[in-house]
Amino acid sequence: MRGFKFKKDQPGKERSGNRERVDEKERLFDLLIHDLTSPLSIVSTTADNLLHKSDRYGALNDQQKRMIDRILRNTHKAQKLLQEMIEILRSEEGIFQKEFFSIEDTLKESLMDAIEITLPHAVEKLCQSKSHEEFRSLLHTHHIYIEVTGRYCKSPFCHDQKKIQQVLRNLMSNALKYRRERMGVAISGEMDLLVSVEDDGIGIPGEEKEAIFKRFVRLNDKKNAHIQGLGLGLTGVKTLIEAMGGDITLESQEGVGTRFVVRIPPIQS
Ligand code: ADP
Repeated sequence: MRGFKFKKDQPGKERSGNRERVDEKERLFDLLIHDLTSPLSIVSTTADNLLHKSDRYGALNDQQKRMIDRILRNTHKAQKLLQEMIEILRSEEGIFQKEFFSIEDTLKESLMDAIEITLPHAVEKLCQSKSHEEFRSLLHTHHIYIEVTGRYCKSPFCHDQKKIQQVLRNLMSNALKYRRERMGVAISGEMDLLVSVEDDGIGIPGEEKEAIFKRFVRLNDKKNAHIQGLGLGLTGVKTLIEAMGGDITLESQEGVGTRFVVRIPPIQS
């Protein structure tokens, strides 16, 4: 009888022990995000002052300006990553910033962010394009094809724009990292927003399709060992989409390519 009781109690104890560990981890994670915000903002303001207030801090030569510019760009990148972590935590708490926005513009902004990471030399020309048509034909020269059809081609979509942008950027930067040559993005939908991001890259083996959505999982492919990543992007994407009441599916064939399809219902106005 005693033994039976012991066995029965143990999983409960283990569970509460695990829960405490998870709570502790979450608390440390929140603290880390909170504590990183101020030093990053101080680095960014200081570098910005050095660059733009020469009357106060002295003039810089061109090489020094380039170095400070690099510090600024990378600090902004780190601030953006931190902001994305915060967006994931907010979505887990059900906090959304409702607004109406153009999906085409949001797609363009997210794509520029993804290109900045994977094809930095292409950014400047793309930034200078004056129309959607010119932008698209420049994209074609980099084998990137985008298409927006359906209701949100003309009408604004109602949701938290930052979070939608985060989902698009993560999926597109993966497709750009792992493609052989091309990436295609199609946005459609008459009520729910439908997004498809496909590439012609290495693909994802069937037995790994669930695992890649787990934290810190990166597929062990020697050919891609040079591609940087932490294995956190898709975990964040899935958390965001599920918090939005949507879903994400994955079709992939090894050596042929990968397609992620996302469905996101609008926030009802
Ligand atoms: P990261 O890109 O930071 O490593 P992700 O969570 O975005 O993390 O992706 C996890 C892993 O899933 C990647 O390391 C890669 O092995 C695999 N993966 C993601 N997207 C693709 C894709 N489009 N094609 C092939 N493999 C992919």
